[in-house]
Amino acid sequence: MKRRRVVIAGLGDVGVLTAIRLSRHAEVTGISVKPGLVSGQELGVRLSRPADWARDYWIPFDRFRRLESVRTIQAALTGVDLAARTVAGRREDGTPIAVEYDALVISTGVTNGFWRRPTLQSAAEIEADLRAAHARLAAAGSVIVVGGGVAAVSSAANMATTWPGKRIDLYFPGERALPAYHPRTWRRIQGRLTDLGVGLHPGHRAEVPDGFAGDEISAEPVRWSTGQPPACAAAVLWAIGRVRPNTGWLPPELLDAYGFVRVTPELRVPGQRGVFAVGDVAATDPLRSSARNRGDALVAHNVRAEFAGRRLRGYRAPGRRWGSLLGIQPDGLEVFLPSGQAFRLPPWSVERVVMPGFVRWGMYRGIRANDPLI
Ligand SMILES: Cc1cc2nc3c(=O)[nH]c(=O)nc-3n(C[C@H](O)[C@H](O)[C@H](O)COP(=O)(O)OP(=O)(O)OC[C@H]3O[C@@H](n4cnc5c(N)ncnc54)[C@H](O)[C@@H]3O)c2cc1C
Repeated sequence: MKRRRVVIAGLGDVGVLTAIRLSRHAEVTGISVKPGLVSGQELGVRLSRPADWARDYWIPFDRFRRLESVRTIQAALTGVDLAARTVAGRREDGTPIAVEYDALVISTGVTNGFWRRPTLQSAAEIEADLRAAHARLAAAGSVIVVGGGVAAVSSAANMATTWPGKRIDLYFPGERALPAYHPRTWRRIQGRLTDLGVGLHPGHRAEVPDGFAGDEISAEPVRWSTGQPPACAAAVLWAIGRVRPNTGWLPPELLDAYGFVRVTPELRVPGQRGVFAVGDVAATDPLRSSARNRGDALVAHNVRAEFAGRRLRGYRAPGRRWGSLLGIQPDGLEVFLPSGQAFRLPPWSVERVVMPGFVRWGMYRGIRANDPLI
């Protein structure tokens, strides 16, 4: 029987995992602006210890064993013809591409700050970006982090751990940071930030300068719409959660009022047979949480089920966020549950069991070793 063709649009965290899961069951083509996985996870580790981060989160596609049978095309998607079941894109040199599909998985994620941008980049450009952000923050004597979500909190904590001499202040609008997490989670992290000497400033809502999307490290004083005097530092990191869905290439009828892709509980785009969406781009629930809750497994199952005429499974989102907040630390990896409880995996187990066993083999089904990239 002719193998069905699946196109994965966007090979980020969830697109790579979905491609891996479908690689043995269909003819899979992945289209992405980057030549590898450049994960959206663990901003704090990325900024403060980029070589450690790159080992786990910047992985060229040819190092994934299970992507061997997947055709990857480096191009920016520019459109889709739903009737003709074809996606269109453009390569770096301007050459147009058109790829037909029997099933399309939309996983183009979101744009956020300077660290998640859907730009066509070579490996050298990705590495130069990683180094430049690190160097800029390393050279700053003081840093303001603006924002109360996980990117802000993890950046403040990781910078304070890496550079104990640096003055680091975290400003957030609410009474507490991490509002999407259980209050217990914040209490624990708050204690840790205080121990690290991070200045905590609740009740500060920053005025975002006109025309500025928080997409670069700035140095101007930060003004507050909540009335406090402006704050100054040598570097200001904006992690204000201004995410924008990467859906400019899709017809508006597929999108909700905020530009995210509308989906049924089965992660199908309503009214479009064979079209699915998963990850940060998919309007599954208010937290758009399918990436971290095995959305890749569900969407891969449902693509195959639809081909075979079997019943599709539904997605159930947890009410609160969970997961690792600070990334791998010298004392191990702490994982926070939706209940706010946390457990810590000791460093030896992370290094010898979790990363090589569970992540590189269990999740990614094998990643070839390579020289450190940066
Ligand atoms: C296994 C796992 C564990 C996780 N654990 C945690 C956790 O502990 N804590 C936590 O906070 N979060 C966690 N997350 C979630 C994470 O924070 C984000 O939700 C995740 O990075 C989103 O993945 P994505 O694939 O939707 O988007 P992205 O990783 O951003 O991927 C989208 C890709 O599409 C590309 N793209 C965009 N537009 C185009 C275009 N027009 N043409 C071509 N390519 C394009 C982008 O450049 C990018 O490469 C986890 C996610 C996973 C998968």
